[in-house]
Amino acid sequence: MTLIRSGLLAASLIALSSGAAFADYELNILHINDLHSRIEAINKFDSTCSAEEEGKGECFGGVARLKAAIDAERQKLSGRNVLLLNAGDNFQGSLFYTTYKGAAEAEFLNLMKFDAMTVGNHEFDDSEDGLATFLDKVQFPVVTANVAAGASSKIGDRIKPFIVIEQGGQKIGIVGAVANDTEELSSPGPNVLIGNDVADITAAVAELKKEGVDKIVALTHVGYPRDLAAIAKIPDVDVVVGGHSHSFLSSTSDKAEGPYPTMVDNPGGYKVPVVQAGAYSKYLGNLKVVFDDAGVVKEATGAPITIDSSIKPDEAVLARIKELSGPIDELKNKIVAETAEPIDGSRETCRAAECAMGNLVADAILDRTKNQGMTVAITNGGGLRSSIDAGPVSMGEVLSVLPFQNTVATFQLKGADLVAALENGLSQIEEGAGRFPQVSGLKYAFDKSKPAGSRVVSVEVKEGDAFAPLDPGKTYGVASNNYLRAGGDGYAIFAKAAVNPYDFGPNLELVVADYLSAHRPYKPYTDGRITEAAATGMAEGATGAETKPATDGETATPADSSTTATEGAATTGNTGSGTTTTGSEAAATTAEGSVAAGGRHVIARGDTLWDLAKAAYGDGTLWRRIAEANDNPRPRALHIGRELSIPAK
Ligand SMILES: [Zn+2]
Repeated sequence: MTLIRSGLLAASLIALSSGAAFADYELNILHINDLHSRIEAINKFDSTCSAEEEGKGECFGGVARLKAAIDAERQKLSGRNVLLLNAGDNFQGSLFYTTYKGAAEAEFLNLMKFDAMTVGNHEFDDSEDGLATFLDKVQFPVVTANVAAGASSKIGDRIKPFIVIEQGGQKIGIVGAVANDTEELSSPGPNVLIGNDVADITAAVAELKKEGVDKIVALTHVGYPRDLAAIAKIPDVDVVVGGHSHSFLSSTSDKAEGPYPTMVDNPGGYKVPVVQAGAYSKYLGNLKVVFDDAGVVKEATGAPITIDSSIKPDEAVLARIKELSGPIDELKNKIVAETAEPIDGSRETCRAAECAMGNLVADAILDRTKNQGMTVAITNGGGLRSSIDAGPVSMGEVLSVLPFQNTVATFQLKGADLVAALENGLSQIEEGAGRFPQVSGLKYAFDKSKPAGSRVVSVEVKEGDAFAPLDPGKTYGVASNNYLRAGGDGYAIFAKAAVNPYDFGPNLELVVADYLSAHRPYKPYTDGRITEAAATGMAEGATGAETKPATDGETATPADSSTTATEGAATTGNTGSGTTTTGSEAAATTAEGSVAAGGRHVIARGDTLWDLAKAAYGDGTLWRRIAEANDNPRPRALHIGRELSIPAK
């Protein structure tokens, strides 16, 4: 796709017109990214699926199902050109990784017979040692142009900048790259240098062209935004298969981050298809590209395949998973620390006030991220699912506190937005909502007698060894979990205003287990970082009339959740029935004026079916009427922007 190529193109057009057409070349690319050790199937919250959920057909992915899906696609495409690509971050995310340190992932990826993989940042989570062991085991090439292993590195020369694969008589160049900030996100160590993705891909492409390869696939782990803005614009790159941002792309689903494929203009005057396939083995990307005889993509079509319960898991893989899970049960029994006293993680405390478990988890998150410049940690009280009793603490106990496989998220946020986040966290104390903010590096006082949205009385932030008043205009480094960062539990401000976010750090339960074992015996404590100002006489907000309904937008990962167990729409509208008001008043928060029986309503952030029913009919319990008229959308994952018809009374 260079100038020379357009010369060739012109020549071939002439050739075409004289009747001597070359054949187009079709290439089918199956791809996954960000497996994150989901060896076992996952539920709709991306955490390990239970036997009960499996029985109900509610599980997705897992390597047994993924293997079956890949085999089936290969079968359908037999006789055609097919590549199976892996865009990195196979490590980290379940106890299979914690136990086997990449060996389980390597074993199952080998069975799937990948043609190439790029490393992701998490492949360095156990330094180069973990990756070197993985490289010992994998039977497919690993290509990442911007990983430079030094002479004393255990990685040696096993990670290539690019490879050339021949299929159907044509050469395909595959060049990989990992996120430029891998050194901050993970631990490659002193022997491994992470170079610049664009510069190193560009250099590799030049090599490929020298070898006469004119069909080039960039296999990246740098994230969808960067694939669009930078990778797809590198001269002579034809296709980008990405990872890292866990982006689900689709041309038909309204949950997608962009179309599949997303076509990007390359300065060479042609279009580059960019694809990614969600994460956690939930999707298998399936892209068909057709190159003309000048190596230009003239057609790119496809759609990700959802690895749902309609796909029967591979039996042999299931049996092997079962075998491997024995030692994992042992791990759950492994004692990671001792605690001098019980660690209080009860709902009653953690959703209403500072609690010892909240301090432990927030302290652990902050401790893990302080080297990245984070000074404040916020986590939701509802994400803490149990207490821990005094004495030895097992990994299983830590998992019962933090069962969701959520990850540490880091970002920068203005002080004023931090206050807005705290206001959200304090907005539903009456209902016992999960959003209550447990913190570290921060002190705040609140007055719950005030209306929601104006309950924060004061905020101080730790500066060095002392606390100073929060500066609304200053930017702070904030650490939280991926659920809140995506706007879960009403923390829309994190989704909207976060700068430089990274949502997929280490798993919370591992961060907390590590922190506990570094502080043995652990002494649970509260230190007055969260204080409640005395109620001031007759409180105007005491009715709770202003409380906003919880919203999920499209995020449904329950790091929270006040409401995980209840599938009902009405979750927030009704759980607070003791304090929420009647009829039209309650609806006023989001749906005022815009919801009428017999009309239509576009879902806004914050809407619940309960509130819409309340607004339209004066009765929240009629929410099913709206649900049924709109194909029963999942109430906890109402899609912002979707138009609902509101049936007449
Ligand atoms: Zn990544």
